[in-house]
Amino acid sequence: MIFILSLIISSMTNILKTEAIVLNKINYGDTSKIVNLFTKDTGKVSVIIKGGRDSKSKIGKITDPLNYLQIIYYQKDTREIQLLTEADLLLFFHNIKSDIDRLSYASATLELFIKLIPENEYNLRLFKGLLKILGLLDDVTTSPIDLFCSFLMFFIKEIGYEIQLENCVICGEATLNNLSLGYNYEKGIFCNSCKKNNFFETNIQTELFNYLISLKTNKKNYETNTKVKEDAIKFMEKFLKYHFTDFKELQSLRLK
Ligand SMILES: [Zn+2]
Repeated sequence: MIFILSLIISSMTNILKTEAIVLNKINYGDTSKIVNLFTKDTGKVSVIIKGGRDSKSKIGKITDPLNYLQIIYYQKDTREIQLLTEADLLLFFHNIKSDIDRLSYASATLELFIKLIPENEYNLRLFKGLLKILGLLDDVTTSPIDLFCSFLMFFIKEIGYEIQLENCVICGEATLNNLSLGYNYEKGIFCNSCKKNNFFETNIQTELFNYLISLKTNKKNYETNTKVKEDAIKFMEKFLKYHFTDFKELQSLRLK
C-alpha cells in the first residue's frame, strides 16, 4: 500500500513515502543528480535530486548505489522523472563495498533491475528479495557466487519466466540427471535421445543440470565446483538474452 502523506496537492501530484534501494545515479545539468531507485511501494522509479551534486546536499551524499533509504518524493504521472525531496539512510552495506567479489555480485544484482525491470511496476517479492540478497552479501561468512546463483533463478521466475528442467519437453522423460542434455530457450530441456532430432541452443552437462535443479528447488548447501556455478550464471544470462532482445550480458561480472 502506498502511504500518502498528504492530500493530493494538485490534480495529479502525490507525495509518497516509501523505502528504496539505489540502483544507479548520474549527474544531471550543473548541479543535479538523477537516481534510479527500486522502491517497496511503486517499483522502479527515476527521481531527480535538485542541487544533489552540492557537497552540502545531505540527500546527494546518501544516494549511492546499493544504499537502502527511506524516501519522500513527489509523484506526477505525466512526467518520467519524479522529484526526490527527502531521504534517510536505513542501511549501508559496508562489507559489500569493501570486497571486490561481493561488490561485483551486488552490482550484477542491481544490473538485473536496471536492465530488465520496467518502470512503475510494483513487486513486493522482488523488493524483499533484493533487500535480502544485499543483506546476505554483506555478511562476510556467506558465499557470494552461491547467493547470486540462487537470486538469479528466483529473479527469472519473478519476472514471469521459468527455466524448465523437470522432464524432457519432447518425450516427457523425467529421469534426466545422468544424461547429456540439451536446452532450447523457448521450449525447455531435451533428453539425450530427443536432442538428436530437435533444435536446441546449448548442451547441459550432468553437473550443471544437477546444480540448476538444486537452485530451482532451493536446496541449501549443494556442493559443486566454481566452474559449474559460473556455467550456471552464463546459462541463465543466455536464457535472459534470448527472452529480452536488448539484454546482452551482466557487465558487472566481466569487470572482476
Ligand atoms: Zn526426450
